[in-house]
Amino acid sequence: MTAKIVIIGAGIGGLVASLLLAQAGLDVTVCEAAATPGGKLREVTAGTATIDAGPTVFTLRPVFEAIFAMAGARLEDHVTLEKLDCLARHAWEDGATLDLFADPEDSAAAIADFAGAAAAKGYRAFAARAAKIFETLDFSFMQTHQPGLAGLVRNAGPRHLGGLLNLSPFANLWDELGRSFPNPRLRQLFARYATYCGSSPFSAPATLMLIAHAEQLGVWRIQGGMYRLAEAFHRLAQTRGANFRFNTKVSEIVLNGAKISGVRLACGELLPADAVIANADLAAINAGYLGIAAKEAVAGSMKATTRSLSALTWAMTGSASGFALAHHNVFFSNDYRAEFAEIAGGKLPSDPTIYICAPRPGEFFCLVNAPPAGDVFRPTQAEEDACLTTVLKKLQRCGLNLQPREITKTGPQAFEQMFPATGGALYGRALTGWRDSFARPGAKTKLPGLYLAGGAIHPGPGLPMAAISGRLAATRLLTDLGSTRTSFQVDMPGGMSMR
Ligand SMILES: Cc1cc2nc3c(=O)[nH]c(=O)nc-3n(C[C@H](O)[C@H](O)[C@H](O)COP(=O)(O)OP(=O)(O)OC[C@H]3O[C@@H](n4cnc5c(N)ncnc54)[C@H](O)[C@@H]3O)c2cc1C
Repeated sequence: MTAKIVIIGAGIGGLVASLLLAQAGLDVTVCEAAATPGGKLREVTAGTATIDAGPTVFTLRPVFEAIFAMAGARLEDHVTLEKLDCLARHAWEDGATLDLFADPEDSAAAIADFAGAAAAKGYRAFAARAAKIFETLDFSFMQTHQPGLAGLVRNAGPRHLGGLLNLSPFANLWDELGRSFPNPRLRQLFARYATYCGSSPFSAPATLMLIAHAEQLGVWRIQGGMYRLAEAFHRLAQTRGANFRFNTKVSEIVLNGAKISGVRLACGELLPADAVIANADLAAINAGYLGIAAKEAVAGSMKATTRSLSALTWAMTGSASGFALAHHNVFFSNDYRAEFAEIAGGKLPSDPTIYICAPRPGEFFCLVNAPPAGDVFRPTQAEEDACLTTVLKKLQRCGLNLQPREITKTGPQAFEQMFPATGGALYGRALTGWRDSFARPGAKTKLPGLYLAGGAIHPGPGLPMAAISGRLAATRLLTDLGSTRTSFQVDMPGGMSMR
């Protein structure tokens, strides 16, 4: 008999798992509380424009190519990707700007112009180190089932043992960057990568410099917007036989004795299931939002105690002048430490670092980091509105005159509503030390038949990592079912191989 699988949530982790399990011939139903697939990968309307309001930076393309290949498809047949020459444009209030480029030698030249030849040398050394960390952790940690520390050492093997010893696991990112970048602005620029997984650079482990290398491997824009990726996964999974039910919230994972028998929907309906993949946030499961059995199954999994960052975002139409915007732009605060101290204290920063994506003329997506306190109604709506005035004034000081016309705002309270029990934290738990990467649970839980996928699960947040977690949950489930189709080995150009 074909095993019945219910997947709770159509975020990227749930979408990937649904695709791979449907491809393996299982009977897959995805229950999604929202009206559309994608979760945090979402778009909103501002006036008549439709603008990405979640992820905008698409990296680690081979991760997605490999998943599509596992499903017998090609990524490029489903989305059109354009590689960006300029990774991001960075700006400060005194008019200084610095671009980073796809070609590291172009970045080194730009850094030499910006801060001198010694800074370019520091950058080259940093880039080589970030590459080494990435290579060391790619297969030994990120692409594999949660290995724990001992497993990491085993997986790294003699080839990467030197790399492991060089990780500086006990140093924080900020201190470690100080060694490569005496120039405070370069240090600030590269420290920002910690926020890609919702952590403060002042407490995140130095290993997060690998994110700089992930960008160096390529940043793409998706023609028509990032949301086309969610649509592509959804369509392909449907083609492979997965059934999607939107506006369908799951309220409980139901057992028969010690075994999963199904899920109960908020409307009361019972859906039978032999196994379940929960793509809901770990915080929600831990809070009992999927019932007692699921809560007990993840008990002890929330070892890292600090919530990751939330964000206050504005998708807007309007006009921009005075500053040549690239696709990705960052306008830095004057005092990075003070900015993170304010956020840690539960406040919106008084001088925020502002990220702006400019996907099309007259359309913008702006983001500032915010405290994950949406569940206690912080910041207030009035504080969020005041922050937009702060942002526009700050941009003006950086040379950009941004005049919004239509605005759609999403802040911590709105994120908490979409992703309950998180407070609006967008990346699971923050990394505040080397142990926290190992504190993320793996795909398998203590309850037989219950698996986890998503940004709060190993290997972590960000589209590629959450996608890998979906792949790991699907392959683990297939192994446990004793399926003969558990191995989808795919060899990718560049040596990337997936199981
Ligand atoms: C503003 C923003 C900017 C970002 N920028 C980037 C970026 O540039 N690059 C990048 O790679 N990443 C970025 N990220 C992070 C990335 O979007 C996430 O890490 C990733 O999308 C998380 O995917 P997930 O699998 O955890 O699922 P989620 O997106 O968290 O989705 C989970 C889904 O489960 C559903 N669900 C939960 N509970 C239930 C229930 N009980 N019943 C039914 N359905 C339920 C939810 O409705 C949701 O749709 C950004 C995130 C945000 C919010």
